[in-house]
Amino acid sequence: MKTAVIEKTLNEFLDIKKIKDYAPNGLQVEGCKDTTKVLCGVTASLELIDKAIEIGAQTIIVHHGYFWKNESPCITGIKKKRLSRLLTKNINLLAYHLPLDINPVIGNNYLFGKLLGIQDGRPLEDYPCLNIGTLPKPMTVSELANLISTNLNRPPLSIFLDSDKILSTVAWSTGAAQDYLETAYEAGAQAYISGEISERTVLESRELDTPYFSVGHHASETLGIRALSEWLKQQFPELEVSFVNIDNPV
Ligand SMILES: [Zn+2]
Repeated sequence: MKTAVIEKTLNEFLDIKKIKDYAPNGLQVEGCKDTTKVLCGVTASLELIDKAIEIGAQTIIVHHGYFWKNESPCITGIKKKRLSRLLTKNINLLAYHLPLDINPVIGNNYLFGKLLGIQDGRPLEDYPCLNIGTLPKPMTVSELANLISTNLNRPPLSIFLDSDKILSTVAWSTGAAQDYLETAYEAGAQAYISGEISERTVLESRELDTPYFSVGHHASETLGIRALSEWLKQQFPELEVSFVNIDNPV
C-alpha cells in the first residue's frame, strides 16, 4: 500500500498538527512509495534500522526519531551513518514523539496509568504530559515500588524518606520528565513516577518529602509504540506490522 496513506492515517489519528513538539512528527526521512512491511520500535537506532533491513521492511515507525530542537543540524558521525543506511536502502522513517505520549487511546501516559491500574487518570490542564490519578488502593511506598516492578518487569530506582508512608494520589509522566516533580507535588500528588532521574531529582524528592520512582525512559515508553503497531495492524490487515523491543537499561 502507499506509504503516504499510512502516514496520513497516523498523522490524523495522532493529531500531529495540534501538538507543538521538539522534533518533527510524521515522515522524517522519505523512502519508497509503497510499503508492505512495517517495523515499529522505540528509537531509530542503527540496530533498529538493521532489523528493518533484515526483515525487508520498507517503513520504520518510532517514538524517538531525529532532528531534535537545539541539536546540531550537521549530518555527521552517528547521524550520518543512520541516515545513509536509511537512504541507501530506501526506507521511510516515521516518528511520533509528544503525539504518542499524550494520545488518549494508545499514548504512553494513558497506557502507563492503565498498566498500574490507576483510577481516574487525567493530564493536568497546563501540562498535557503530566498526569494525575488515584492508585487502585491506598498502598505504601514499598508496595507501589513492587507494583511498578511487577508490571514493567524492572525494579524502579526509588527515592523516598519513609517506606511505610501510605500513598493514594500519584502523578506520572513517561520518558525524561523528572523535572515535573515539583509541579506534581504542587498539584497534590503524594508520589511521582517518570522514566529518568537526575542528581537534582534526589534532592528535590527529599526536600518535598515526595517519593520519586525512576522506572526507565525506555521501559516507560515501549507501551505506546507497541500499541501503535497493534492499532496499525487493525487499520490495515494487508500490512505486515511488527514491533521489536531493543532493550535499553535507561
Ligand atoms: Zn521519550
